[in-house]
Amino acid sequence: MKRIKIKELLSSKDFGASVKAEGWVRTKRGNKSINFIALNDGSTINNIQVVVDVANFDENILKDITTGSCVSVIGKLTESQGQGQSVEIQAEKIKLYGTADAETYPLQKKGHTLEFLREIAHLRPRTNTFGAVLRIRHAMAFAIHKYFNDRGFFYLHTPIITGSDCEGAGAMFRVSTLDPKNPPLNEDGAIDYSLDFFGKETSLTVSGQLEGELGAMALGEVYTFGPTFRAENSNTPRHLAEFWMIEPEVAFNDIHDNMDLAEDFLQSLVKYALENCKDDLEFLQKMYDAELIERLKFVVENKFVRLPYTEAIDILMKSEQKFEFPVSWGVDLQSEHERFLVEKHFKKPVILTDYPKDIKAFYMKQNEDGKTVRAMDVLFPRIGEIIGGSQREENYEKLIARIREMHIPEKDIWWYLETRKYGTAPHSGFGLGFERLILFVTGMLNIRDVIPFPRTPKSADF
Ligand code: ATP
Ligand code: MN
Repeated sequence: MKRIKIKELLSSKDFGASVKAEGWVRTKRGNKSINFIALNDGSTINNIQVVVDVANFDENILKDITTGSCVSVIGKLTESQGQGQSVEIQAEKIKLYGTADAETYPLQKKGHTLEFLREIAHLRPRTNTFGAVLRIRHAMAFAIHKYFNDRGFFYLHTPIITGSDCEGAGAMFRVSTLDPKNPPLNEDGAIDYSLDFFGKETSLTVSGQLEGELGAMALGEVYTFGPTFRAENSNTPRHLAEFWMIEPEVAFNDIHDNMDLAEDFLQSLVKYALENCKDDLEFLQKMYDAELIERLKFVVENKFVRLPYTEAIDILMKSEQKFEFPVSWGVDLQSEHERFLVEKHFKKPVILTDYPKDIKAFYMKQNEDGKTVRAMDVLFPRIGEIIGGSQREENYEKLIARIREMHIPEKDIWWYLETRKYGTAPHSGFGLGFERLILFVTGMLNIRDVIPFPRTPKSADF
C-alpha cells in the first residue's frame, strides 16, 4: 500500500477510505481503552491524529510508541469529532519502525530553548520550529529560481574554489592539500604553493560576483545562488562563516534599474512566502513574533525609501540617538545605524546609495564628485543590511587606476579586466544574503537558527 503524505490526508474528504501514513510520533495520550497519537511526517506543520482502540493491538508495541518513535499506520480516514482537526485515522495496523527511548530522547519534552536546540542540530529539524523554518527556507529558494526564470535570467554556476583573493569581501578560508606538518618550502622559507594541488594558493569564494559579471557580458541577465565563505571572526546574530548568496548581474542596468530590481525581487519573495507558507508563518507568529505577518505585509505594500549615504549621515548626526559607534562622514554604517534609519526614522525599508569610495569595493562605479561610488545597500527592519550592490565601473582606465590605488594584484584579475577591454557595457548587480532573507521572513533572531547546520567560529560539529 502506498503512503500518503499527512499534508494531503489533512485536506482529504475521502472519508471511509483505507490509507497509510508514516511519520514520527509527536505525542501519545489516552487511557486504558483508547490512545491518541499525534503523527507528523514533515510535509506540514500539522499533525494527523491516529486513534488507537487498545483492545485491537499488542500492548508491548503500544508501550513502545513514545514521542520520537517512527511508525507506519494503516487505517480508515474519518471525519474528526475533536476540535481543530478535520480528519483522523482509525488505526487498523501499526508497524513500529524505530523506538525512541523516553529516558534519553532529547526532544521528549517540549519547550526547549533555541540555544539548547543548536547543540542537537542533528535532531532539531524534528521540532515544529525548525520544520517551519526549513520548509520556508525551501519555499524561498524555489521562489528565487522562479523569479529569475520567469524574467529570462540564467542561473550561472560560479566556482566555489577560487584562485584570486581580490574579491575584497572578507577574509578567506584557504584550500590546500599540502601536508600542514611538513609543507614544501621555497628558497625564502615560505610555503611553496606551486607544489599545491592547483599550483597556486587557492581559497573558498567570498562571492560569485566577478564571475557573474563575465556571464552578464555574454548572457545579459544572470544570477548565481551558491554557498559563500567568510573567515571573519565575527560572532554576531547576523554572520555565518558559510552562508548562501544570490547575486544577479545585469548588462545595461544602471544603479536605478538595480534598485528597482532589488526592491521588486524582495517584495516578490516576501509575497511568495505570505501566499505559500501560511501555516508555518502563523505558527512562528504565534510562538515567537506577534508582528511577523504584519511586518511582512508592510514590506510588500510600501515603497522603499531611497537616499544618498551623505543625507543618511546627516540624519544620524542630527538624531538624539546614542550610538555605540560614533557617526561621521566616511564611516561604514553599523547595524545600529542602519536599524535606526529603518525602524525609527523612516519606518520603511531604506536603500542607501553613493557611499564613500574608501569603504566600498574597487569595482564600484565612480561618481563625478571623486569621493563617492554608485553603491546601493538595502536596509531592512530587524536585519540592517540585507542586500549590498552597485553599478560597476565599466571604464577600463578608471577601473585600473582604482585597482592600483588599492594595491590589488593585477595578475590575479587580468581576466576580469578583459571585460572592460572587449565590448565593455554598463552593468549592475547585487548580493542578497539568503539567511538574512530567511531571518526576516521567519522572524527568527539568530542566523544560526535559519540554516540546518550553521558554521560559525569554533563551531562546525554537525
Ligand atoms: P555586513 O556589513 O553585514 O557584514 P557585507 O557588507 O560584508 O555585510 P556584502 O559583501 O555586501 O556583505 O555581501 C552581500 C550580502 O551578503 C550582505 O548584504 C548580507 O545580506 C550577506 N552577508 C554578508 N556577509 C554575511 C555573513 N557573514 N553571513 C551571512 N550573510 C552575510
Ligand atoms: Mn555590503
